[in-house]
Amino acid sequence: MSQKDMVCIVCPMSCKVSFDINPDGSITKVEGHSCPRGENYVRKEMTNPTRMLTSTIKIEGAFYDRLPVITSADIPKSKIFDVMKEINNTVVKAPVKLKDVLIENVCGLGVNIIASRSMKAVEDK
Ligand code: SF4
Repeated sequence: MSQKDMVCIVCPMSCKVSFDINPDGSITKVEGHSCPRGENYVRKEMTNPTRMLTSTIKIEGAFYDRLPVITSADIPKSKIFDVMKEINNTVVKAPVKLKDVLIENVCGLGVNIIASRSMKAVEDK
């Protein structure tokens, strides 16, 4: 059995959560969290860590060259580079509306890449 500490990043309180990892991989003696989300975070982080991904995607025909995007749900941490590769290989065309789906089912994860803002088309760009 080993003891481990982790900072919960679910909210700005940043609780330091301590727990034991047993030889069979189970987690016990979870302490230091101020709410149940802290324990859930630790258990998920130790088994299948996931993150929401924010980035930008190339856009043509808009005032700006890149458009802010976000995943529609959290994705496995291990897939972040694969998803970034797909985002970097994609070019969208203006106009785009907030929450438009720009890449459907990215990397087969069942998650979409969506626009996190609207962007109008401009002439002569
Ligand atoms: S344990 Fe609860 S209160 Fe503490 S950082 Fe996590 S979510 Fe916030």
